[in-house]
Amino acid sequence: MQIYQPKVIEKEFDLLCRLNHPQIEFVILDPQLSRNQRLLCKSCGQQSQSNSQIIDYQFLKYCFDQQQKEQILEHESIIMPHIQYLEFIEQNRISKNKIDSIT
Ligand SMILES: [Zn+2]
Repeated sequence: MQIYQPKVIEKEFDLLCRLNHPQIEFVILDPQLSRNQRLLCKSCGQQSQSNSQIIDYQFLKYCFDQQQKEQILEHESIIMPHIQYLEFIEQNRISKNKIDSIT
């Protein structure tokens, strides 16, 4: 079971293409370009003359998410025993308080 989900820091609807259009559809895979020059909306994507590889934005996002999920799973397996231990301590602390309040 996965507790933590990956989350993109940038708000997706804040992303604009090089002509400041919203709704990014494609990404140009060219490290020479600046960030918003790499982003293409649907109409800019159809007009693009770029020789670089162009990839579907949703597909790229899916790949990143998968990568992140794998990393999170890896870290979760390390972290979970510690969290469970802390929960155990916390529960015992609460029950001790109950006993204290009764006596
Ligand atoms: Zn555009």
